[in-house]
Amino acid sequence: MSSHLKTKRNKPPRLYPSLHLVEGYKGKLIIDSDRSDGISFVNYNELDSSLEIYMSVNETEIFDGCNLDYEQIEIPFVIHMLEIYGNDKNVIDESFLIIENINVPYCEFHVDLKEDIFHLLIRSLNSPIRSMAIHLEYCQFKWDLLEDKDTCVKLDILFVYASPFNAMEVVNGVNVLFIEGLKVSVPSLNFMEFSHEAFLLSQIHNLFFYKRSVFDKNGLRHLTEYNVTKEDVDICKECEFRRCCFDSRKVLNRSDGTFFYQSECNYNPYIAKWKGEEGYRTLAECGVESDASGFSIDHERIAEINEELWGED
Ligand code: SF4
Repeated sequence: MSSHLKTKRNKPPRLYPSLHLVEGYKGKLIIDSDRSDGISFVNYNELDSSLEIYMSVNETEIFDGCNLDYEQIEIPFVIHMLEIYGNDKNVIDESFLIIENINVPYCEFHVDLKEDIFHLLIRSLNSPIRSMAIHLEYCQFKWDLLEDKDTCVKLDILFVYASPFNAMEVVNGVNVLFIEGLKVSVPSLNFMEFSHEAFLLSQIHNLFFYKRSVFDKNGLRHLTEYNVTKEDVDICKECEFRRCCFDSRKVLNRSDGTFFYQSECNYNPYIAKWKGEEGYRTLAECGVESDASGFSIDHERIAEINEELWGED
C-alpha cells in the first residue's frame, strides 16, 4: 500500500470498517457488524474465496488498526436490561412501574405461571419495552401463549427449560427455544452479538451484565459484574468470541485478583470446537484447569489434539 494512504497513526486506512478480526488461541472470528453476523474459522486458507476482502489484499493490512484499545469510549447506544423474577401479578405490576418510569427498553421475565405470562404480554404492549424474553419451565408451556400475534409483538424469545428435547421453533415471530436442561448458564452461538457496539463495549464491560439490573420480591438491585470483561477472565481471554459473547455465568475471583468461571463453557477455544461438534473435547481433556486454586494449561497436550483435529496450520 503506498505511503500517501497512511493515516496520522502511520497505519493504512481500514477498507472495511464494519469488519473486526478477533484471534483466539486456535480459532479466529470475523465480526461483520454491518450484517450482524460472524464468520468463525481456524486457518486463513479456510476462508471462502467469495469473501472478496481476501482476494486482493493481505489480511494483516486489512485488519491493522482493529485492535481498538480504548481506555475511555463513548458508547453510541445504551443497553438497559431488567431481569424480573416474579411469581405473581404484583411483582409484574411493580416491575412495570420501573419500566415505565425509566423507559427500560429490554426485559427478561422469569415467571412461573401461564396466567402471569398472558398478563405481562398485555402489559408490555403499551410500555416502553422494545424487546423482551420470557423464561419458563416446560410444564408451564402451552402453545396458546403464542397464538395471538398481536399480543406477542414485543416478545422476541421464549426460553423453555426442563424440556424433554432441544429444539428451536419460530411461532408468530417469536423464537421458542426448548432446552433440555435448567436455566441457560453457558453460551452458544445463539448468544453472540455481532455488532460494532458490542465489539467496542466488550473492551471495557461485560456484555451480558452491562446496565443490567434485577427486580424481584425484594426490590430492585444493580449487578456489579459489568466491569469484568472477557479479557479479564481465564480461558475467555483466549477465545475469539470474547468480543461478542453474552455469557450469563457468574464470574468469580481468586484471592490474587484473577477471574474464573466455576463451570465449563460450551465452546473450547483451545481446539476451536463447540460441544456436540465432531472432535470436541472438554477443557479438562485438553489439560486446561481453571478453578478457585488457579489456572493451568498443557500446551503440548493441546498441540497434539489440534494436530489430530486440524493437521498442520
Ligand atoms: S464464554 Fe465461552 S464462547 Fe464466550 S468468550 Fe468465554 S470461552 Fe468464548
